Amino acid sequence: KINLEDISRRTPGFSGADLENLLNEAALLAARENRKEIKIYDIDEAIDRVMMGPAKRSRKYSEEEKKQVSYHESGHAILGVKLDNAETVQKVTIVPRGQAGGYAMMTPDKETFLQTKSQLLDTIVGLLGGRVSEELFIGDVSTGAHNDFQKATAIARAMVTEYGMSNLGPVQYEKPTGSVFLGRDYMSDKNFSDQVALEIDNEVRRIIEECYDKARVVLKENELLVHLIATHLMEIETLTKEDIYELVETGQLS
Ligand code: ZN
Repeated sequence: KINLEDISRRTPGFSGADLENLLNEAALLAARENRKEIKIYDIDEAIDRVMMGPAKRSRKYSEEEKKQVSYHESGHAILGVKLDNAETVQKVTIVPRGQAGGYAMMTPDKETFLQTKSQLLDTIVGLLGGRVSEELFIGDVSTGAHNDFQKATAIARAMVTEYGMSNLGPVQYEKPTGSVFLGRDYMSDKNFSDQVALEIDNEVRRIIEECYDKARVVLKENELLVHLIATHLMEIETLTKEDIYELVETGQLS
């Protein structure tokens, strides 16, 4: 069954034309298997393609890499489930796609006009969860968190310089330059002294460090769940939101 609400939740910011493209892509996938009907997994695959690029099935992980990626993604997933203000995990997978080794698709609970400080902080905590999980449960860290850090830093920096959500107070140091979630140019209109630049950097670092600590606490508290999700990822590669909640609630998949 195809749940339209789920689809719209997983495609935040998509325009009508984007959604049309998405359905065309899904129809092509169905046609490729000589099916006249679009199934939910066609839509799944189409969303992944549009957002992350085509799957790289031919690329094979070593067992060590598979474990590393599984624990990384499991960390994101568990924080998505356990944090009050984090985004919802829609899907988590270790199938490589585009530039990503694996990924956890997180989307806001509902589309909102505003984001609160607690939501932004929990989003950062969730982004750092991949690296923290590798550190806690593998004992070595990988380059897999590169993109997470970029996003987390961009959000923390916007909190300090644009949204007045730090110890530097409600002062705007930088002009908004579009969505913080799409990456940004750090060298944008800078009109503050080196001293202030230093204070901004320190505040950004403090926010990131506090979020990192929170991720560590929550993942330690839920260590068994992290192992459970990671083990299943190593075995079946992709878990949907429903799978994740079933595992968290019952400890197994039916
Ligand atoms: Zn990650």
